[in-house]
Amino acid sequence: MSNIVNGKEMSEKILNEVKQELKFEMIKPSVAVIQIGNNSASDKYVSNKMKACEDVGIYFRHHQFEAGTSELTIVNKIKELNNDDYVNGIIVQLPVPSNYNEKRLINSIINSKDVDGLTDINAGRLIHGKKTLIPCTAMAVMEILDQNNVELSGKNFVIVGRGKLVGRPLMELMLERDATVTICHSKTENLSEYTKKADILVSATGINNLITAEMVKKGVIVIDVGINFEEGKQSGDVDFDSVSKKASLITPNPGGVGPMTVAMLIKNVMTCFRNKKK
Ligand code: NAD
Repeated sequence: MSNIVNGKEMSEKILNEVKQELKFEMIKPSVAVIQIGNNSASDKYVSNKMKACEDVGIYFRHHQFEAGTSELTIVNKIKELNNDDYVNGIIVQLPVPSNYNEKRLINSIINSKDVDGLTDINAGRLIHGKKTLIPCTAMAVMEILDQNNVELSGKNFVIVGRGKLVGRPLMELMLERDATVTICHSKTENLSEYTKKADILVSATGINNLITAEMVKKGVIVIDVGINFEEGKQSGDVDFDSVSKKASLITPNPGGVGPMTVAMLIKNVMTCFRNKKK
């Protein structure tokens, strides 16, 4: 039976440290979220972020726009927040409705407040190994591995999913740590040929039960990032019951990567806040 990561407990420890640090600050950090249209999953993510921010003492501004709002109005709001000295971080909650240009909205955020690490410039800095703001979920995966003292150098690291929030930034972070990285995606043939070779396997697809026990080797470390909702119940990409019997370390879903992603967002807000104070 594997060790099961307690993402909630790990994230609470990080949030408590931030809370202690902010007790002594006269001016508190602040983060603004731009949300467009109605999406029940996004509502849940925004409310999780709001709760975590408010618990540690970060002001949370929620700017909700109706789906018909012009893109220019939203870009102008982002520009206003870029110039507001009291706002340390800006998030465009994804996904945005398909009639908006997601890239243009994200790239309207000034790089120094891009707490999701998604502007072209910040993503480029990551590729070039420069200090930058890193997408929170990729950071969460690294933090989980580091806090569990997982050796990365020389290990076979297989990522299923090549999205810009998780798969792509993780690839860069892992290469930086000398892992041998393989990226699989929806067009990969014989997925299990790759997953069986993994010392560390991250799945970030949103496909329920994509990863089963037959697809992994004994002793593998498994990080389940994907999120699915079926009949209101959250699950991940990994068939937890069977895979946990073979894995040496595994994240549950929910209760693994999700809470750590929120903790990493708070870390990024604090980075922006400290940088501003310098
Ligand atoms: P995305 O849509 O950008 O990427 C999904 C990836 O899955 C794609 O690269 C696609 O090629 C791959 N894929 C789809 N079907 C596949 C299959 N059958 N076999 C192999 N690969 C397949 O999504 P994303 O933004 O990268 O997010 C991925 C998942 O992670 C989603 O479920 C999302 O909800 C979840 N997520 C979770 C957190 C968290 O905090 N836990 C944060 C961000 C994203």
